[in-house]
Amino acid sequence: MSLPQRLSPGRFLHPRGVAYLVFAVTLLLSGLVAYNIKLNVEGQERRHFDDAVLQTLAAIEQRMATYADTLNSVSALFYASESVTRGEFQVYVNTLRIPERYPGIQSLGFIRRVHEIEKLAFARQLLEEHRTNPCGYPEFPIFQTRGHTEYFLIVFVEPIAQNRALFGRDVLADPACRAPMERARDTGKISASKRITLRHGDQDKAGFVLLLPLYKPGIALDSVDKRRRALVGYVFGNFLMNDLFQGIFGKRVVSNIGIDLEVFDGRQLTRENLLYDDDAVLHSSEAEEHPSVFRQTTEIDVGGHIWSLSFITLPTFHDSFGKQLSTLFLVSGILLSFLLYRVILTRAVHASERLRHTAILEHQASHDSLTSLVNRDFLLERLREKLLEGAGKSQNTALLMIDLNGFKEINDTLGHQSGDALLQQIGPRLQKLMRPTDVLSRLGGDEFGLMLTPLHGEEEATTWARRVIEEIHRPFELDGITVQIDASVGIALHPMHGQDSSTLMRCADVAMYVAKKSHHGYAVYQPELDMHSPRQLSLMSQIEEAMRQEQLVLYFQPKIRLQDGNVIGVEALIRWNHPKEGLIPPIEFIPQVERSTLIRPFTLWVIEHALLQCRQWQDAGLPTKVAVNISARNLLDSELPDDVARLLTRHRITPDYLELEITESAIVADPERALDILTKLHEHGVRISIDDFGTGYSSLAHLKRLPVSNLKIDASFVSDMTDNENDAIIVRSTVDLSHNLGLNVIAEGVENRETLDILQILDCDYAQGFFICRPIPTADVTEWLRQHTPKARH
Ligand code: C2E
Ligand code: CA
Ligand code: CA
Repeated sequence: MSLPQRLSPGRFLHPRGVAYLVFAVTLLLSGLVAYNIKLNVEGQERRHFDDAVLQTLAAIEQRMATYADTLNSVSALFYASESVTRGEFQVYVNTLRIPERYPGIQSLGFIRRVHEIEKLAFARQLLEEHRTNPCGYPEFPIFQTRGHTEYFLIVFVEPIAQNRALFGRDVLADPACRAPMERARDTGKISASKRITLRHGDQDKAGFVLLLPLYKPGIALDSVDKRRRALVGYVFGNFLMNDLFQGIFGKRVVSNIGIDLEVFDGRQLTRENLLYDDDAVLHSSEAEEHPSVFRQTTEIDVGGHIWSLSFITLPTFHDSFGKQLSTLFLVSGILLSFLLYRVILTRAVHASERLRHTAILEHQASHDSLTSLVNRDFLLERLREKLLEGAGKSQNTALLMIDLNGFKEINDTLGHQSGDALLQQIGPRLQKLMRPTDVLSRLGGDEFGLMLTPLHGEEEATTWARRVIEEIHRPFELDGITVQIDASVGIALHPMHGQDSSTLMRCADVAMYVAKKSHHGYAVYQPELDMHSPRQLSLMSQIEEAMRQEQLVLYFQPKIRLQDGNVIGVEALIRWNHPKEGLIPPIEFIPQVERSTLIRPFTLWVIEHALLQCRQWQDAGLPTKVAVNISARNLLDSELPDDVARLLTRHRITPDYLELEITESAIVADPERALDILTKLHEHGVRISIDDFGTGYSSLAHLKRLPVSNLKIDASFVSDMTDNENDAIIVRSTVDLSHNLGLNVIAEGVENRETLDILQILDCDYAQGFFICRPIPTADVTEWLRQHTPKARH
């Protein structure tokens, strides 16, 4: 039933936990997906890179093969004809359309092997050729080098215009050419030079030479030696690296696909060996290995020479692949997860708030906030359930109504906090006594309800009541002050006193009221006590009629001065002379009248009849002051003072002949309003006395504010005074204090001589009681007055 237990099933699936879980799962999922995408993209990139490398390699190799073919086709020219002229060579090379079809070829040419002994004949031949058809060739710079047994002279080179400088050069003298020349000669295959610098226009550019050996036709070339002897020269091509590679790809590889191509002569990837760099930034020698960069180095054989081709991806390559896709996905995944988390959390928190709120509301609806005990509704509900369950069974259920006596006094003197602290301690004390099936509830104020079930009869219920009273009577510690308090307990039993929960509650209430009045501690409900019994209801319906028909009668009880025994006045006490029931005492109908609006006409009826009698006594020469009892509710009626004044005038009674008796509790209900009305009455000259003093919660100091002239000590103290020393002390101190405050004291309920004597010793002012005179009808009281009024007054 307690709050934490109610919420406990939800603890495993705490809404916040669900939100966190969803957040974690979606985060993990988007992470996985992003990772997957990344892998995928990387795989794709890698494949693309590999393809690009393969394609590039294939293109290069194809181009190289084409160059080889070109050289071969040129060599075929020489094999086909004994003596190729420079004109023929020029025509042939022109037909190849080198600039368009073979970018990168700077020149094609023919190197002729000339023995020392042929030198002169060869020179003559060239001169002759130059004379008949120069074709743009300069005059032959014959044999700039001397002292060789043979020469390797460039005799044709095309296009001649930009290659004049090569014409006639003895190539063997060039160390860069010597090795490939010898290799070509010995192998019979095309040979490439290492990196050389080629003069192109007025620029030096990186390049290389390809050389193809030419042998004398018709000779077996099956050994190196034979080849060496059969060699007649070389067909050669000069290549410009940049033009070559850019020619292969149409434009730079980098701008094409984002891969940097660097070509190195040999196996060392150094700047010195660099033949070609696509983006002019050397990446191959970068020490730092970037993880996302792909690299591949491939070696190819170019005319017996190793070239290293290095491929490296550049950022543009990766960009084109949407590498960001995975990051983008991850970021949006995180965002989405967070959003989802927020949405779930907000909804979940709302839901849990609602749940908590509902639980709190439910708890509030069924519990008392101060004591945390269940409230009246809850108790009634449980009682209802119990009665249904127990229907037909022999066992009983009891309802105990517990009310604290003098709680208001503690509240007023020690403060509300102490009062609250006391109320909070009641629950734990009584719960110690209770069984699991019993229910304790705070009904409101200082009132508690205790349902006891099962129970076997009235006796067990009264034992419980005594235990409860005992437990409450144990001292309370409130802020270091020890306080003792009594409780009144009313007992109602099911099924004897009522069949349903609300009837039982009302019965327990009635019994509690009786217990309080009787000062007995507890009382078991009896139908006769019940003001709501059918008899009471029937009496109530007749009261108006009773007033009209003069069934109500006033009895009067004299009050005397203790000092001299003289009458000081009479108290009017009402009786109902019922046509069927006979004389009904006021206690049987006044509480009912007090709870209805009839109290106003009723009180005015009493005042009017008391004044009527007062008038008669005055007219009969027995001037007697009359006291009338006023109910608590009359003190809420602001018209009362004027009504009283009007009645006094109507019956020509001076106000000092009327006294109004008000109980302490009447003032306590609404002190401000009571004070206002009492003040007005006092201003009209009417005297006020406090009735039943000592049973309520007011203190004498409190009464000082009120325009009161007399104080009536309650009969409960007076009647026991002779036996109970405590009561005597209370009477004595009340008398002393009242005198100090300028008040007169009347003792009610004087039933014997002894009491009267003690009161006289205690300096009490007046007395009233059966010993002096019982309340008696008008005729009798008039007679009594006649006998007791001092003759001197006449
Ligand atoms: P109360 O104002 O305290 O009136 C005194 C009650 O004590 C009277 O009871 C009276 O008969 C009784 N009594 C007087 N002397 C003795 C004694 O020596 N011993 C004992 N045991 N009792 C004594 P009663 O007349 O039955 O009235 C009961 C209560 O009803 C009154 O208590 C008063 O509160 C109320 N009451 C009576 N008449 C009226 C009335 O006209 N208007 C209102 N509002 N209340 C009235
Ligand atoms: Ca009275
Ligand atoms: Ca009284």
